[in-house]
Amino acid sequence: MAKQSSASQAGTQTGLVIQSFGRRYSVETEGGILSCVTRGKKTDVVCGDQVQVRISSPGEGVIEDIDPRHSLLYRQDEWRIKSIAANVSQIIVVTAAVPACHEAMLNRCLVASEAAGIPCILLLNKADLPESAALQQRLGRYEQLGYRLVVLSAKQDAQPLRALLQGQTSVLVGQSGMGKSTLVNALLPEASARTGDISTALNSGKHTTTYATLYHLDAQSRLIDSPGMQVFGLHQIEARQLAECFPEFRPHLGQCRFNNCWHRVEPGCAIAAAAENGEIDAARLAFYRELLAERESSR
Ligand code: GDP
Ligand code: ZN
Repeated sequence: MAKQSSASQAGTQTGLVIQSFGRRYSVETEGGILSCVTRGKKTDVVCGDQVQVRISSPGEGVIEDIDPRHSLLYRQDEWRIKSIAANVSQIIVVTAAVPACHEAMLNRCLVASEAAGIPCILLLNKADLPESAALQQRLGRYEQLGYRLVVLSAKQDAQPLRALLQGQTSVLVGQSGMGKSTLVNALLPEASARTGDISTALNSGKHTTTYATLYHLDAQSRLIDSPGMQVFGLHQIEARQLAECFPEFRPHLGQCRFNNCWHRVEPGCAIAAAAENGEIDAARLAFYRELLAERESSR
């Protein structure tokens, strides 16, 4: 249950946004769940936000204010910068050997987690498949960068994931087919049935919109899930901040010949030199350069 905020205004109460859907929000308060709209043009409320709500009629309210956030994640959108979840404390990226896991997608999640200042855990699912061994070895490279790797099989036993979620507000992401829904369903058997109800009620039969839902796993543990959340958006990151989102680049930053080096084709680039001598994985540097190029082409 949401804590009372010291910042609450007269006549408002503190609530937790547990579902966002277009411009309507389900907000959990001490008195129950309210169906809320926002005041005026405030449209950046997201799932996981702690908010100040004013009851407007029984069961309905108006979101007057958003309390300060610990973190904010963005969804992938070609056109706009759009947030998807607030106050997340860890990201779990679900990978599997079958179907083929795309490392670019994994790298995107890692960059998003660095930009948001949230730890990212790699989960290798489908450990029961023989193909998993080779992927586990490849993922070892990310462990060397400092990311935690957890190996399990959702089909056999999803419990190691439950332990990982304890005391956290987590989001699970992963390209389609990796087993994200199987894992979420194993964690929330009845809650997932409830998602269906809410979405049908609010969505009047349309199934294309991305929405997110916050579930309480226990009093301390929350899971924010969205069927459309496969990867995070990176357009909100300043181009100059991108290199900082690669932990293995950090010791070399400031060592380039030009202090405004983009680590692309500039002579005397310390990052390029580190990639050449194998200290930095060349594929990660290539990915960084791809992200920079993406920005230029979208301008
Ligand atoms: P999502 O697209 O990431 O939500 O993936 P799903 O949860 O729908 O799973 C995709 C397929 O992988 C389904 O056929 C699942 O039954 C299968 N799957 C999920 N977890 C495991 C696992 O641990 N082992 C194996 N062998 N198959 C799994
Ligand atoms: Zn450089």
